[in-house]
Amino acid sequence: MDRIPFYRSFRFRLVFFIVVIQLLFLSVSAIYTLRKQSDAETLKAFNSNESSIKIATSYVNNTMAAFEQNLNLMAVTPALASFDPTESGKFLKTYKVSSLFITGERLTLYDNNNKFVADNWMVGGSRDTAGFEEFANVEPLNAYMGKIKWENYSPMRSFAVTVQNYARANGVLVADFSFRRLHSFLSEFKVGEQGHLILIDNLGRIIYHPDSKWTRKPTNMSALGFPELNVKEYSTEEPTYVQLNNGISYMINYRYENQTGIGIMTLLPCAEIDKQASVARRSMLYLYGAMMFFMLVLITWMSTLLLKPLVVLTEKMRLVQDGDLDVESGIKREDEIGLLASVFDTMRISIKQYVSELGAHRDRLELEVAERTAELEKANKVLELMSRTDDLTGIPNRRDIMEKIKYEMHRSRRSNLPFAFIIGDIDKFKSFNDTYGHDCGDEVLRSVAQTMRSMLRKHDYIARWGGEEFLLVLPETSEEGAMVVAQRVRAKVAETQHKYGDLKLSVTITLGVALFDVRLGIERSISLADRALYEGKEQGRNRVVYWDPARITPEELAEAAKDKESRSDSDAELDSNVIFLLDQERKMREERNQKDES
Ligand code: GH3
Ligand code: MG
Ligand code: MG
Repeated sequence: MDRIPFYRSFRFRLVFFIVVIQLLFLSVSAIYTLRKQSDAETLKAFNSNESSIKIATSYVNNTMAAFEQNLNLMAVTPALASFDPTESGKFLKTYKVSSLFITGERLTLYDNNNKFVADNWMVGGSRDTAGFEEFANVEPLNAYMGKIKWENYSPMRSFAVTVQNYARANGVLVADFSFRRLHSFLSEFKVGEQGHLILIDNLGRIIYHPDSKWTRKPTNMSALGFPELNVKEYSTEEPTYVQLNNGISYMINYRYENQTGIGIMTLLPCAEIDKQASVARRSMLYLYGAMMFFMLVLITWMSTLLLKPLVVLTEKMRLVQDGDLDVESGIKREDEIGLLASVFDTMRISIKQYVSELGAHRDRLELEVAERTAELEKANKVLELMSRTDDLTGIPNRRDIMEKIKYEMHRSRRSNLPFAFIIGDIDKFKSFNDTYGHDCGDEVLRSVAQTMRSMLRKHDYIARWGGEEFLLVLPETSEEGAMVVAQRVRAKVAETQHKYGDLKLSVTITLGVALFDVRLGIERSISLADRALYEGKEQGRNRVVYWDPARITPEELAEAAKDKESRSDSDAELDSNVIFLLDQERKMREERNQKDES
């Protein structure tokens, strides 16, 4: 993992997690709080409307009570008790009386026969009883409250009281109460911002409405869109909602006042309550938005505090990973991040130390390996030399000389020059051994080998061929040359005195000479020299015999030709590397000999 995908980063996860949690929390609490808020607003409006009804009720009651009071006081005026039309009419039209009434309110005096006596109207003729028919219910001192009726496009209620005359029979004073009296107060009465009040009578007819069109003639409240309800029994105990014909939904509060027989209702448009709630909702949203913003700022700050050093540390670790062990965290803080950074620094220093120790160790090991390898190479060279050297005499052995012969064969093929084999065998060596002992024989064998070697030219080869037999190879040498060398060797060995203890001993050797014959190959050519040696022994020993190629029989040639395939293989089988090495060795040997000579 080289780079973390953004959606998997700690920063993203933290922000995502907190935003989701926050949103979840906020939406749940918002729904809960707003519902509570809405309920509270509704209840507040309901309670406020309840008190509005109480105020309106007491206003209506007080207004009617005052109206009654005035009527009671007027009833005991002597001017009325006289039932004299002129005198009582005059009284009723006085400013003192008329100022107590508003336009349209009639004040009428009737005699004991319920006959019109006088009224307060400035103009117009007499009135009869047509306006009032409830005389039977009228009592003295306590005003009777009549039914509600409509006159001149306005709801009215008659109040009546007995006018007493002890001399004559009692009469009745009737005063009409116009509900217009309530208009100025009720129209100013606030029900919320847009709401209003209505008054209805015991039959459900509207007797006050801010829009006077509903009160010009008897109109049932169902005309507004209200359902039929029992006006006397019904009252709102909890928030109640109605939708009226004007399309507006209202929360209504309602009380029926038994004393006056009037129901009072407040109507508050639901939209207004919702408006209150929505104001609350908006402020809450602002609050939550601010909270969210604050949380995001907090997260950003926290993650910067936490993640920035982590990113820096990761980059530094990457450098360490790439091999830069000198990089420092550069973070100095007294918190968990600081601890991490200090552990990083310590770890890096430890790693650096380990690496340098390991390097030193490796160098040591490499040196050791090199030393061992050199030793091994040396030992190998010794072994190689040993494997090519004869133990007893210290001259090359049969294996060594065979390789050299193959090489000479190649050279002679290239140069077209002959080369010769000489086999020498010590004469009567068995009896020599028998006479002087085997150890003495060994010593003489060594000495003879050295003597023979000393007689050779620089590019000639010698090897111990068998027990007391030696093979000499003379490159670029013809029959004559080979015979000269063989004779010289024979003479030298014969005249040499070999020391063994106090003894001075001498031996002779017989030598067989043959040239390499390309038709016969190496083995068969050597066997020619062997044959010559045998002949020399036959002829009396201590002599040199040359095997003339003319003596090679056709049968022999045929036999050699027969196995030529395999032989030529083995003869030719000389690695180019070996040729090169032998060339080198030969050059070195020649140089060495030249030096020795000079
Ligand atoms: P000739 O060659 O003249 O016919 O007689 P010879 O006695 O040398 O005959 P032959 O080749 O049969 O015997 C070889 C003897 O050389 C036998 C053995 O005692 C002796 N000999 C061979 N190798 C060694 C050696 O390594 N050390 C000693 N001391 N003697 C050896
Ligand atoms: Mg022998
Ligand atoms: Mg011998």
